[in-house]
Amino acid sequence: MVQVSNHMPTAELQALDSAHHMHPFTQGAGLRAKGPRVITRAEGCWLTDSEGERILDAMAGLWCVNIGYGRKELADAAARQMQELPYYNTFFQTTHVPAIALAQRIAELAPGDLNHVFFASSGSEANDTNIRLVRTYWDAKGQPDRNVIIARWNGYHGSSVGSGSLGGMKGMHAQGGMPIPDIHHINQPHWWNEGGEMSPEEFGLARARELETAIEQIGPDRVGAFIAEPVQGAGGVIIPPSTYWPEIQRIVDKYGILLIADEVICGFGRTGNWFGSQTMNIRPHIMTIAKGLSSGYQPIGGSVVCDEVAEVIAGVEFNHGYTYSGHPVACAVALENLRILDEEGIVTRVATDTGPYLKEKFESLADHPLVGEARIVGMMGSIALTPDKASRAQFAAEAGTVGYITRERCFANNLIMRHVYDRMIISPPLVISRDEIDTLIERAWKSLDEAHARLKDEGLM
Ligand code: PMP
Repeated sequence: MVQVSNHMPTAELQALDSAHHMHPFTQGAGLRAKGPRVITRAEGCWLTDSEGERILDAMAGLWCVNIGYGRKELADAAARQMQELPYYNTFFQTTHVPAIALAQRIAELAPGDLNHVFFASSGSEANDTNIRLVRTYWDAKGQPDRNVIIARWNGYHGSSVGSGSLGGMKGMHAQGGMPIPDIHHINQPHWWNEGGEMSPEEFGLARARELETAIEQIGPDRVGAFIAEPVQGAGGVIIPPSTYWPEIQRIVDKYGILLIADEVICGFGRTGNWFGSQTMNIRPHIMTIAKGLSSGYQPIGGSVVCDEVAEVIAGVEFNHGYTYSGHPVACAVALENLRILDEEGIVTRVATDTGPYLKEKFESLADHPLVGEARIVGMMGSIALTPDKASRAQFAAEAGTVGYITRERCFANNLIMRHVYDRMIISPPLVISRDEIDTLIERAWKSLDEAHARLKDEGLM
């Protein structure tokens, strides 16, 4: 038997990885040729790889490690819970203390009357739950035809068949028979790419009104819900124009459809409030949560449901659930994570201290010749790469070419920054310090300089 460990040479680990490990959202053959970077440890905002390099993680893993890496309290909470009750389900009229405690705490933190939690192990699962919740809700209310859910192109809601259908990623829909029936997509409020001659405010209104048009076309008695991320994350950190959400809220209220806020990224402090719905001032009936709920230390997600919807669902037998719904270890770890976020004032710090500091520094990247706009809310931000700021031009090369080149320069400079097409995005741990923010911006600037030089050399700009 091969003993795989941190002490193996990188090349051997890479060879075994290539032989046996299939990577998500990756072209396997390309990765095999290049070899993945092997991450061995992490502390705070810093990763260490198998070559001993220290890398600043400006993505908090996959937007999830809100309290930073290496918090021993979470490991202790997991160990305690594993010894006391490592697993039990909540299907057949049983419950346990970690699930009770976490549901109660989430209800306390969530806005309005979002007082009920249906647990899952991921954002994808939680959004699958939401599809079933919405359709079961309308069915129980005697309106079974109200099964259409409206979502947005370039939204991201997960990678299962249901959640991937809600998402508006055409590349995902092209593989494996998505979307499922009765999911309808409207356009996104992405002013930089799609706003044309309109002002951001005009464009925000126009894009919100596509919801009303869609409801009228499909039929108000057919539409059950609208789902959206308060701020699109995986689509490229698209912060909507100020006019967008108020208009969406008006339309949702007018037609009495359910509003689902997918808070998988925005939740738990990312935008400077506990939830993105508070930052955008909207009143969802259901929120999807995951990621920052446990800071990624355990896989856990859920649907947070308002009183009325929960009451209607309580009237039927809801034939839905996962073996790991409310997993006690995941719940115990999430609770400890929420305690730290709260007691250490981490969410407040994002709102009033390090968030504003990061905003000032991050927005200064817009002075770089390769950057058109730099926008950020709380600790999620993006910059648009462009050959011409004034006209918001796209590069002649295939979309994503320049983003990828820039991402590779960041990687080489030990900074994890992701690209979505030709937008560069950040979502660092919420505990990032001012010094670390300075390092982030220095490395980003250096990487942009290098990418810029290379683009000129190669005639791409
Ligand atoms: N919703 C949003 C807004 C997300 O960003 C993600 C993951 N990036 C998901 C849902 C899916 O979550 P998971 O990967 O945990 O299934």
